[in-house]
Amino acid sequence: MQRIAQRGRTLASNTGRVIDALSWVRFSSPAVDSGIEHRVQRKLDALCTVVQERFGVVMRPEVAWDLRGQAAGQANGRRNRIRFNRELAERYPNEFVAQTVPHELAHLVAFQKFGGSIRPHGREWQAVIVALGAKPRRTHCYEVTPTRKLKRFSYQCHCPDTEYQLTAIRHNRIQRGHVYICKRCLQPLGPKVEAH
Ligand SMILES: [Zn+2]
Ligand SMILES: [Zn+2]
Repeated sequence: MQRIAQRGRTLASNTGRVIDALSWVRFSSPAVDSGIEHRVQRKLDALCTVVQERFGVVMRPEVAWDLRGQAAGQANGRRNRIRFNRELAERYPNEFVAQTVPHELAHLVAFQKFGGSIRPHGREWQAVIVALGAKPRRTHCYEVTPTRKLKRFSYQCHCPDTEYQLTAIRHNRIQRGHVYICKRCLQPLGPKVEAH
């Protein structure tokens, strides 16, 4: 399974200002709720109860479902906000509820308790996520649409049996007149000529 790094940088770049736990506003959910939104919200509510008992923090994060791409979730401690990826949630609902929801909530709790200067997936976050009954993994292991296999271009020099697989970037540079030299024969690379 492909492991995709999850983004935690929002937290790392925060100012360390601790949010007043009572100043939250519930994010109004869209008129049409898919099943997964209900499941995620129920899980969040249950976890918030645990957080209050274990850490003495009242959490009512704002939730948005506008995350796209390879990140399953993104937490913003300063704004007390979690963004979720609906497509991944619908494809992997069990893993999403069991891991992604506590993962992101743990970021908010760690921010509330320890401020914004902690490492996103450091000791503080790990302590919180373990208390929430999930694994302290930085990454999720959903199968995300495999990254497009990069097209390569075959080039050769004067060395026998030597072939270079150049990226499109280099290939385009050569098209524009850029020259790449083989380190051994010191000849410029040219497009590979197929032997007949
Ligand atoms: Zn994270
Ligand atoms: Zn060469």
